[in-house]
Amino acid sequence: MNLILLGPPGAGKGTQSVLLEKRFDIPQISTGDMLRAAVKSSTPMGVKAKAFMDAGDLVPDEVVVGIVRERLQEPDCADGFILDGFPRTVAQADALKESLEQLSKKLDAVVSLKVDTDALVERLTGRRTCKSCGKGFHLKFDPPTADGSCSACGGELMQRDDDHEITIRRRMDTYDQQTAPLEDYYRKDELLLPVNGMGAIEEVQKDIISGIQAS
Ligand code: AMP
Repeated sequence: MNLILLGPPGAGKGTQSVLLEKRFDIPQISTGDMLRAAVKSSTPMGVKAKAFMDAGDLVPDEVVVGIVRERLQEPDCADGFILDGFPRTVAQADALKESLEQLSKKLDAVVSLKVDTDALVERLTGRRTCKSCGKGFHLKFDPPTADGSCSACGGELMQRDDDHEITIRRRMDTYDQQTAPLEDYYRKDELLLPVNGMGAIEEVQKDIISGIQAS
């Protein structure tokens, strides 16, 4: 099963792809996670990517295309993969098409998560992660302990640098201008599967799975 999860920041791509990873036993490939890991360990790629990420802009196509191309060749992608946050431009989608052709693989579906803008901002501004164990929280929907620490390990929580409101607005504009055109791109390829992302996590997951199975 070869899937793409498409949707604006905060649509739930990460949450849903982790569940799909378990359900289908195929790896989630998140370019955002890979880039954040590179920033954290200050690799040359991370150093280059950081300024773009902090500004809410896209990292140049050649950087992300290279990391995804390499990742898709890993043995754990043999039975499938879930791309989360890639492609984000038409150039990336074209590069992906070429890579998949070379690997004799085909996409099965492009799940497009639909969420209202106000809900996206609320989801992102409340998002927190534990510095020690990486567990995710939301101040309103999935709150940590009363003193604001991690309920799993007691660690300190942090907010992603790009989850502050000004950067969030910028990331949304970037999505509208550069990524939203991919909906038409994949509709033309008869791969687009629009899913209402406003419901509870389990409901959205159910809709994704039934949509994939029907397609
Ligand atoms: P995400 O965690 O998917 O929201 O990604 C966080 C940030 O990483 C984005 O705002 C971009 O700066 C960068 N990024 C992630 N994936 C891509 C991509 N496919 N193309 C360009 N930049 C990306």
